[in-house]
Amino acid sequence: VIGAVDVGGTKVAVGVADAQGRLLAQDRFPTRPERGPDAVIAEIADRLRALGHPFTTVGVGCVGPLDLDEGLILSPPNFPGWDRVPLRRALEARLGLPVVIDNDANAAALAEYKLGAGQGAKILVYATVSTGIGGGILVDGKLVHGVGGGAGEFGHQTLVPDGPRCGCGNHGCLEALASGPAIVAAARKAGFERPDMHAGHVAEAAAAGDPIAGKVWEDAVEVLAIGLGNVITTLAPDRVVIGGGVAQAGDLLLRPLREALARRVRMVPMDRVDVRLAAHGADAGIFGAIAVGLPRA
Ligand SMILES: [Zn+2]
Repeated sequence: VIGAVDVGGTKVAVGVADAQGRLLAQDRFPTRPERGPDAVIAEIADRLRALGHPFTTVGVGCVGPLDLDEGLILSPPNFPGWDRVPLRRALEARLGLPVVIDNDANAAALAEYKLGAGQGAKILVYATVSTGIGGGILVDGKLVHGVGGGAGEFGHQTLVPDGPRCGCGNHGCLEALASGPAIVAAARKAGFERPDMHAGHVAEAAAAGDPIAGKVWEDAVEVLAIGLGNVITTLAPDRVVIGGGVAQAGDLLLRPLREALARRVRMVPMDRVDVRLAAHGADAGIFGAIAVGLPRA
């Protein structure tokens, strides 16, 4: 049995799963990072034990930035006062068990490879399009971490030299142009509005023939295709899996995205690149943590 912990900015999910990655029990609670790392880590350990299934190892998916070599949380923007917190060692000390940690996007990529839409891929590119745009790359079933664990952050490739400022400090990143909030901002600017608007509203209105939403959606998909197309051109993956909230639009995203990729990518045979939606939607976090804790497939 594997313990799993998904640490997000607003909530923490804990779970236990069997050796096949099937969820046996789970729980969640608000992170409230302002109470400090010790209190949060103590609650994680207590809630995991309270699930009532003895586990032998723990996988953790966590918001970044992380130092993966040392198992540290560096200083996430929404975690005031957290700086180089030794999450892995602190959890190991509290639980008396080995803990494996990775960032949430890599964890979700690993979950798609081991338990989802990426199974059997030789080179897998996973992209999550949500509040941000992140991703993970697996080659022969192994995550590519790179220097400082920075591989797969293709949301932060520059696409427009003087484009909108991105949360990372750069301008014109893919994330600043085609993430959920970027799509909503573009729709608003163009005069399209819905109560509690999210990117799905834009996709649906576009499909229903709304010309303003149609143009905004078309532009967002095109810029996503440029960004993903660059990654495909670089890696020639046999599988691309798209997850995150914006991917909930399903075929409204996938169909035009495939068309644009076929147009943009000239050096890789796109008929041999299988572009799919992720198997794990809203539960990508906990399954990511489970996948991190599972032994290599
Ligand atoms: Zn950026």
